[in-house]
Order: sequence, then structure tokens, then C-alpha cells
Amino acid sequence: MSLRQQIVLAFGLAVIISSAFLFFATRFILLESYLALEQQFAERNILRLENLLADDMEGLGRTVADWAYWNDAYDFATDGNPEYIENNLGNQTLLNLDINMMIYVNTAGQLIHGKYVDLITGEETAPPELTDILAFVQTLLQQNDLTASSTGFFQTSQGVVEFAARLILTNEQEGPAQGVLIMGRYMAEARIALLEKSLQLPIRACLPDECVSELDDEAVNQLLDRFAAPVIKTDDRQLLVYTPLEDIYGRTALIFQVSMTRDIYYQGLASMVFFYLFIALAGVVITLVTLLVLNRQVIQRILQLHQFVSTVRETDDLSRSLTVVGQDELAELTANLNQMVRALAESRHELQESYNQLEVRVAERTRELAELNTQLKQEVAEREQAQIELAYARDQAVDALRLKTQILANVSHDARTPLTVIMMNADTMLRAGTLDEKQQNKVNSILTNSQQLLSFFNNLLEEARSRSNQLKLYVRPFQITGLIESTEAIMLPLAKRKGLALQAEIDVNMPEIIEGDVDRVRQILTNLVDNAIKYTSEGSVRVRIFGSGGGQWTMAVSDTGRGIAEADQSHIFEAFWQVDGSVTRDVNRGVGLGLSIVKQLTALMGGTVQVKSAPGEGSTFVVTLPLKRRAGELHNETSCTDS
Ligand code: ADP
Repeated sequence: MSLRQQIVLAFGLAVIISSAFLFFATRFILLESYLALEQQFAERNILRLENLLADDMEGLGRTVADWAYWNDAYDFATDGNPEYIENNLGNQTLLNLDINMMIYVNTAGQLIHGKYVDLITGEETAPPELTDILAFVQTLLQQNDLTASSTGFFQTSQGVVEFAARLILTNEQEGPAQGVLIMGRYMAEARIALLEKSLQLPIRACLPDECVSELDDEAVNQLLDRFAAPVIKTDDRQLLVYTPLEDIYGRTALIFQVSMTRDIYYQGLASMVFFYLFIALAGVVITLVTLLVLNRQVIQRILQLHQFVSTVRETDDLSRSLTVVGQDELAELTANLNQMVRALAESRHELQESYNQLEVRVAERTRELAELNTQLKQEVAEREQAQIELAYARDQAVDALRLKTQILANVSHDARTPLTVIMMNADTMLRAGTLDEKQQNKVNSILTNSQQLLSFFNNLLEEARSRSNQLKLYVRPFQITGLIESTEAIMLPLAKRKGLALQAEIDVNMPEIIEGDVDRVRQILTNLVDNAIKYTSEGSVRVRIFGSGGGQWTMAVSDTGRGIAEADQSHIFEAFWQVDGSVTRDVNRGVGLGLSIVKQLTALMGGTVQVKSAPGEGSTFVVTLPLKRRAGELHNETSCTDS
């Protein structure tokens, strides 16, 4: 549903709802007030009718008084002389007085004389049934008040009679009362016509039996009740008011029906319709005008905005703009929309520019990346070439190392064999005892130097094996004492030569036989003792072997030599490293391999080596190895050389 349709529908609904509301409001407020007005009008007319009857009754009362307080009447009531009748009670008298009857009653309540005339024909008529009225006037005779009067209605067979009665007194209204004078007139059609004339409304008088057939039970009860009240009955055309007329005994003797046209009601209805039509017309006019204004000022402009936005979206043409009309919110909205479209166009332009720049930059980057890629490829190729060359060089180096190791191993092996022979011969010569002292010294020197040379070759061989991962352990049981003895056999001559004491202690708690590669253990011990002798000028070298707990045993070699600075202690286990940085040239020669071999062999056995030393305070090298006990086959420690 379009906006315009929605608004028209909303207005239509509003008009219908407000019209309905207005209709019911006017119906129930305006019309009800007119109905109330009509009711008041009816009641007022009834009051007027009652007042007319009362006035009538009062006039009759005054006439009765004129005739009752008269000496002639007084005398007539006393003696009943016919002159009075002849002189005063002719037909014309009643016609003049506008009454139908004059009745004289004596103090005993008996009829003295009665005169009855038809007011239309002027002729005398038959007397009505007087029993009721005669009984009633007795009450008047019994009153003490002489001037008391009695008025009302009584029913007779000829009809309802309006009457007034007074005691008959003298001219001076003195008693004693000689009787009662009653004047009466029938409530006949002529009488009703007079009332109609005075009231200027149609009046119908009917006997209760005649009227009640027109009414419902409730209204009948209300009219025939002792204290009867008027009943109002309405139909489309007229308003009928029924008001009862009670007789002297309080019975409903006659019912007056007063007809009233419903002018007030129809006037109210017409006013309401006119009012409603006027309001409805005004509502329609206001709605139409409002719709026209709304259409012109709002809907059309909103539709223009909608059309504009749709066109911009469909054509993607951001150069368009709307004409701003007026200075209201919609004009502001239009201006803002124009501004938004302009901003959109600008940002699109900027976006396009940055996109172009981005494209240029991407092209540049792509080119750079391509170049970089080419370079990288080139570098990769170069690296691959370098790697090939490196692999080739490494292979060559490995081959060279292997060759060097092989040469070293061969040299060491080949050198050790003749050295062993030299040492055996020198030892044999010494043992023969045929040498003089000088010769003995020379042979001893040969033995010692050969021993050192053998140790040197052994270290070279171990280093070579280590480099080529050829170091292997041959674990078997051996005696600790055998280890010490074989080491002493090698080292003691060297110590003696330098005038040093060589001491060895085996802790009593040490097992006699343990498991291990005895040749490697001896090589460790020999290297440490050799160093201790080498770097000690005087004093002693001490070897201690003891169990160090935790399934380990320890070899500690202490000397009283020069000691090692703390800064050097971390380097001395590196291969070919020496404290003074150059190969020792003196008698204590070496190549910096001893401690390196010690460390490698110790690690191979799952142990550790540590040094505690300070310059000038000697050194202690502590080797801790796993203790493996096994009683069994013993390796006989007799030889101190490795074959
Ligand atoms: P070298 O063949 O030179 O003795 P090592 O590897 O056995 O080689 O020893 C390395 C260095 O450690 C030695 O050059 C020496 O300076 C120092 N050194 C080793 N043992 C001792 C020690 N007991 N007293 C003092 N210095 C020592």
C-alpha cells in the first residue's frame, strides 16, 4: 500500500470513527436533553390543567358562597316557601351561573329542593343519583366552622359532577346553619371544550374503564391508585399525558388525556441531524483540505525524494540533485540528501583515484617482486651451487681427516712397535746387570724417554680414533692394585728423574675388583700423573683411589706444582690447548692432547673430570666414574703398554 493510500485510509478511518462518536454523543446528550425538555413541557401542561380545574372550582365555590349566605336562601331552607323557588331558581339562573344543578339540603341531610338543567338545551333535566353527595355533605354539617366549604367531584349515573357546597347562613354569615347549598356542573364535553380552549391543547376525558385499555398494566395501576399520578405515553407523532381526576372518596372518577405534538422532540431531532450533518460536512471539508495540503506539502515531496533516490540507485548517476523548495524539515532533508549524494560522488571519486594509485602500486610491487624472485632464484641457484661445492669440500675434508687419522693411527701404531722393542731391550740390558753406572744412566734415559714417546703416540692415536668415532670400550673385571702398579711402573722413573715423590693410596672401602676398560682407565690415570710430574718442579705427586658413594668411584691426582689460573681451567680440556699457548719445548714437552683424551674417555665411560687448582698452589684432577662390581675373571695387570 502506497504512502498516499495509507494516509487517505487513516484519515478516512479517523473521519468514520469521529463521526460515529459524534453521532452517539449528540444522540445521547443532545437528544436526551430534548426529551427531558419535552417531559418538562408535558408536566407543565398538566400543571396548567390542574390549575384551570382549581380556578374553576374556586369560582364555583365563590358562587355557592354568594347564594348560601343570603337571608332569602336561609328562610327558604327554614320554611321551604315556594316563592323563593319561583323567584330565584328558574332555568335561566342555572344557565347564567353555568351550572347544571343547585341542591338544597336541610340540616338533617334531606333534600329540600333540587334544580337540574341541561346547559346546552337550557331544558330542565332529571336529577342524578345523589346518595353519595348527600352522605358527603353530612360531614360539612357536623363541622363547627360555619363558613367551611367543600369542593370536589362526585360520580353519578349521568356523569362526573364538579361541585361546591356551603352551609346556608344569613347575609351576615351567621347561623345556625339551616342546611347546605350544593352547586354542581357535569364534566361534560362542553366543559372539556372550555378546558381545551384555555389550555390550547386537545383534551379527552374518559371514564377509567374506557381509557385503561390503551395503557399497560403499570400505567393503569399508577392511574387507578389512591394517590394517582399522571402517566406519559409517547409515540412517533404525539405525546399523550393521562392524569386522573379523583372523586370525594379518592377514587379515580375520570381520566384526562391531554395530547401534545412532539414539536420539541422533532425540533431536537432536526437540530441534532443538522448539527451532525454540519459537523460531518465540516469534518469532510477539513479532511479534504488537510489531505490536499498534506498531499501538496508532504506526500508529493516525499514521493519526489523517493523517486530521486530510486533514480540515483538505478542509474548510478551521482551528478543529479533535487530542487530545494521551502524552508521546512523536508526542504532540509532534500538539501541533506543532495549533500549526501555529492559527498558520495566525491568519496567515489577519491576511491577511484586511490584504486588507480593502488593498481599502479600493485603493478610496481609485482614488478619488484618479479625482480626479487629472479634474484632469489639466482641466489638459490648460487646457494645450491655453493652447497654442492660445500658438500664437495666437506667430503674432501672428511676424506682428508680420515686420511690424517689413518696416517696418525698408522704412524702411532708403527712408531709404538719399535718403541716397545727399544724399551724391552733397554729393560733387558738393565736387568742383565752388566752395565756400569754411566751405561745404566744412559739406558735408563733411553727407557724413560721411550716411555714418554710411547705415551705421546698413545694420545695421538686416541685423539685420532676419537675424531673418527672409533673409540670403543672393552669392559672386563680388573684389580685396582694392578692398575696402580702398572701405572707406577711407567711413571716412577719419570718422577725419580725430577726428584719428586710418587705416592699411591687405595681406600680400604674400595672393592678389590671392579669392571671397566682397564687400558682406558690406565690411560686416564697415566695422563694425569704424567701432567702432574711434568708441571711440578718439587714436592710430590699423589694418587688416591676411593669410593665416592652413589655407585661411583674416584681417582684423584694431586701435585704441588705451579697450578692453573682460573681463566685457563675451562680451556685445558680442549684438544691442542696449552696454558702458555705454545708447545712445551723443554723436557716436559707435550702437544695439548693429554687432558682432551682424559675428558673424552671419561665421558665415554659415563663419568666426569674436574680440576681444582690455583696458581702456585698445585693442582688436583678428580675423575669420577660409575662403579661396576663384578667378581669373576680378572684381567692380569702386568703390561703397561697398549699393543
Ligand atoms: P700437555 O701435553 O701440554 O701436557 P695436556 O692436555 O695434558 O697437554 O695439558 C694441557 C695444559 O694443561 C698443559 O699445557 C698445562 O699447561 C696444563 N696442565 C695440565 N696438567 C697440569 C698440572 N698438573 N699442573 C699445571 N698445569 C697443568
